[in-house]
Amino acid sequence: MTTDGQDDIYDVTILGAGPTGLFGVFYAGMREMKTKIIEALPEMGGQLTVLYPEKFIFDVAGFPKVLAKDLVQRLVQQAEQWDPQICLDERVVGLEYVREASEGVPPIIKLTSDKGQTHLTHTLVITAGIGAFSPNKLDRPGVAQYEEKGGVAYFVKKKADFRGKRLLIVGGGDSAVDWGLNLKDWTHDITLIHRRHEFRAHESSVVELRNSPVQIMTPWELLEVHGDGEHVTGATIKNNETEEQRTIPADVVLLNLGFKASLGAIADWGLKSSRRHIFVDGFCQTNLPGVYAAGDVAQPNEGPQMGLIAVGFAQATIAVNVAKSFIDPKSKIFPGHSSEMKI
Ligand SMILES: Cc1cc2nc3c(=O)[nH]c(=O)nc-3n(C[C@H](O)[C@H](O)[C@H](O)COP(=O)(O)OP(=O)(O)OC[C@H]3O[C@@H](n4cnc5c(N)ncnc54)[C@H](O)[C@@H]3O)c2cc1C
Repeated sequence: MTTDGQDDIYDVTILGAGPTGLFGVFYAGMREMKTKIIEALPEMGGQLTVLYPEKFIFDVAGFPKVLAKDLVQRLVQQAEQWDPQICLDERVVGLEYVREASEGVPPIIKLTSDKGQTHLTHTLVITAGIGAFSPNKLDRPGVAQYEEKGGVAYFVKKKADFRGKRLLIVGGGDSAVDWGLNLKDWTHDITLIHRRHEFRAHESSVVELRNSPVQIMTPWELLEVHGDGEHVTGATIKNNETEEQRTIPADVVLLNLGFKASLGAIADWGLKSSRRHIFVDGFCQTNLPGVYAAGDVAQPNEGPQMGLIAVGFAQATIAVNVAKSFIDPKSKIFPGHSSEMKI
């Protein structure tokens, strides 16, 4: 990590340190671009770090299977070899052109963040994924109080934290079902409640869950979380058909109720976009000069939008190499082969 003055102008700034942004940093370094990456969260890794660090991924080339958090670690290692400027815990909220692009002269773009920092850059690659995301919260007695104390959680950071705990999972989507399956080897006492009989999760996962030791209760919903002031001791749940209420013992309540995601301030920058995506051409260019988008946030004008890590890697490669050629027209877009470089 390097330090800089706020007035330094970077060749490329990458907005968002998910897998797409991190791989973009690697390529920018390989192209000898002065590179900065800005991430809203205190940690890098995007959805892999926040939503599923302890799940295996099976469709990243070269890895028959890899834990999400391990993939992030390797991406960070690969990106950091070029000593990029890394800014964490800073959400980019503003974009303006300090200098417009003209023949052979790249623009200077000023980014501002929620921390009041400014960042100057010739090009910007937006890899903001699903945007700023936050879990849907549940407004029930005890939930906020014990979220602060750690007994109510919206994410699984470490499976080991659940070892031997009596766990109540609330939710009926992929996350709830997957965590039921993923945590069953760490604790033998898991109850999963969902307010409907039907799950919104992958069918095969639901079948696996039904055949597992996890106790499934439908259609039940959470009414209240109880505790001794420090630790969760149980929860009151209600059957939506019979109105029956029960208080069941629990040490941890895991709420998997989906996520809110939005582009936030990025949507106001004059980019052609839909509610969740920025439109790009085959060069990953947006409608703004020197501004590119890649990964989950990018919607190609032609062809499908595919929210996959592999697709983000390819788009990051294109966006960064096109940006290189944009600021230095003598440089080709094609980077050459890394195997033939001294890295
Ligand atoms: C449960 C689950 C399982 C998955 N499993 C797989 C799988 O097996 N295989 C696969 O290929 N894909 C999988 N995916 C999809 C994969 O995680 C995404 O395709 C991938 O994370 C996209 O990477 P990204 O870098 O484009 O975006 P993200 O990972 O979303 O990262 C974007 C980053 O940008 C940051 N950001 C957003 N706005 C700002 C801002 N204004 N300022 C600064 N930073 C900002 C965010 O905080 C975030 O860290 C899965 C997704 C989920 C939810």
